[in-house]
Amino acid sequence: MSNLKDIQLYINGEFIDAASGKTFENINPFTNEVINYIAEGDAADINSAVEAAHRAFHGEWGQLKVSERLKYIYKIADLIDEHIEEIAPLESMDTGLPISQTKNMVARSAQNFRFYAEMVSNRLVGEAYQVDDEFINYTIHKPIGVAGLITPWNAPFMLETWKIAPALATGNTVVLKPGEWSPVTANRLAEIIDKAELPKGVFNVVHGFGETAGASLVAHPNVQLISFTGETTTGSEIIKNGADTLKRVSAELGGKSPIIVFDDADFDRALDACTWGIFSFNGERCTANSRLFVQESIYEQFVDALKERIPKIIVGDPLNNETEVGPLIHIEHFNNVKKYIQLAKDEGAEIYSGEVPKEFGKGNFVPPTLLLNVTNEMRVAQEEIFGPVMAVMKFTDEKEVIRLANDTKYGLAGYVWTNDIKRGHRVAQGVDSGMVWINSQNVRDLRIPFGGSKYSGMGREGGHYAFDFYTETQVIHVALSDHHIPQFGKKEK
Ligand code: NAD
Repeated sequence: MSNLKDIQLYINGEFIDAASGKTFENINPFTNEVINYIAEGDAADINSAVEAAHRAFHGEWGQLKVSERLKYIYKIADLIDEHIEEIAPLESMDTGLPISQTKNMVARSAQNFRFYAEMVSNRLVGEAYQVDDEFINYTIHKPIGVAGLITPWNAPFMLETWKIAPALATGNTVVLKPGEWSPVTANRLAEIIDKAELPKGVFNVVHGFGETAGASLVAHPNVQLISFTGETTTGSEIIKNGADTLKRVSAELGGKSPIIVFDDADFDRALDACTWGIFSFNGERCTANSRLFVQESIYEQFVDALKERIPKIIVGDPLNNETEVGPLIHIEHFNNVKKYIQLAKDEGAEIYSGEVPKEFGKGNFVPPTLLLNVTNEMRVAQEEIFGPVMAVMKFTDEKEVIRLANDTKYGLAGYVWTNDIKRGHRVAQGVDSGMVWINSQNVRDLRIPFGGSKYSGMGREGGHYAFDFYTETQVIHVALSDHHIPQFGKKEK
């Protein structure tokens, strides 16, 4: 597979070119060659997509019975499952993510559609209060309207479906603006949704750039909500820009998550988790444990073990089943990660890296890298690098490590390794981040929320949090009797 078909927009059930006729190049991160051209949507295309979504919401989709709607959601899940072996290589080719990892992500996307179909069938219940046999007040959940979904380039298929599944299952219609560096599988999903025969306009994809297509979606008055995943600075701009039209906004943003290894931890498991947590997904992972804190009594031993692992990590072709780390998404991002490694040297850190096999010289490869002799105030310990690069630091005790872990503007994830269960909970609760794993890597039951605090986000995805985000709660007050109503204007003056 070296070339892919060109990609159009998907609006109102049709695959079409951008109104301007413009396209942009899509580059294979393994070869740095153009693999296809992508239709470059802008405000005009966003407008058409929102109009289509608005019509569908007030038309056929909005009038479907819930059970009929959910049949479509299950159908999408089945079709994704049927095509895992085809979607995963597309995703790997487009992003550089190793195929063994993209297969799991695609499978999880299908599960997510089923999960939300089930949740909607179980959760369309409200509260009801009967007051003195005179009134009943009750609540119902209604879809909101057109959902604008803006997603990043990392793990695109999974992150897009994270939003699309709850948005559609709860009855909204969708305009998706995918990340511009990895647009391919969004269209594969559009083809699947087309095959599932959802009514026209229910799901739309507009490719393009953030400042044009993305910003127009945020500003559009007929878009009721924006679910955004991406960088913190973009999130903050979207929240500001959405304010004019009072958008409901959720923002899943960047991270600089700590992994804390105490000297009583299961050494080998902590080492596995630590290595996986920073080098899986090429380190282009919002929850990556990019800051490692090791207790001083085992620091040397732990770092030696990490150093022994690093050259053995298989760096290579993302389409090879054995590959553990592939090329970074884009040359621009690659250069940025390289700049951070140089900055680490300038700040006085010692660099320890694996090797990239010579035959892969054309790709955006950054080998698994440790930054040693780092202190937490260095820029490389504070800023999100978003590559296979981990800053390693030592600590003496619990109090100090909680302070260090929290000494960052981010608060997405955290990981604690200790065999002292009381300490595990204490430290986890002391870490200011949306999610903390104790003696575990980044696994999550779909019922549990996902999201960060501080500069890592606003709101939560997953579980019933997404259900609540994509629905409006309406209260109905009903009189059961001819209860007293104040009678203005009935008195004689
Ligand atoms: P980004 O913020 O540059 O872009 C994300 C999306 O926003 C893209 O589709 C882009 O076109 C669009 N966009 C850019 N400017 C916009 C604007 N002014 N208005 C509307 N849309 C705009 O992020 P990225 O580089 O694609 O992704 C990497 C970032 O995403 C990292 O910071 C990573 O931590 C974060 N991320 C967070 C999570 C999470 O769940 N917390 C998950 C994955 C990635």
